Amino acid sequence: MRIDSRDGLWPDPPESPESAAFVAAAREGRFLLRRCTACGKAHWYPRALCPHCLGETAWEEASGRGTVYSYTVLAREAPARTIAYVALEEGPIMLTSLVSCDAESLAVGQAVTLVFERSQNGTPVPCFRPAAG
Ligand SMILES: [Zn+2]
Repeated sequence: MRIDSRDGLWPDPPESPESAAFVAAAREGRFLLRRCTACGKAHWYPRALCPHCLGETAWEEASGRGTVYSYTVLAREAPARTIAYVALEEGPIMLTSLVSCDAESLAVGQAVTLVFERSQNGTPVPCFRPAAG
């Protein structure tokens, strides 16, 4: 079963002051995370205070590389789509979607790469596809 790109079809994500810098960078193709300046851990989704220790956090550019932690294929939706947790190279596990892939070839532990798709109003939506090679 083919899982297609849904570029331009995603629901518009809610806007918030905490997401504005993320969206602005994403429009330039850069994927930002926040990392704690006290304990050093990165987290997702972006928050002003560290979810691990309540320390201050700062933006950093992430690699966009990760591995599939868990996923499910919503085969009865038309078109079919996925919901997935991706473990980012920087540490956080992110709720996202896998796109542009074959459902039968997906596997836990598989290497994936970030791809920004767009919502209906053009807002970047971080998704992942199988890494090349
Ligand atoms: Zn912390």
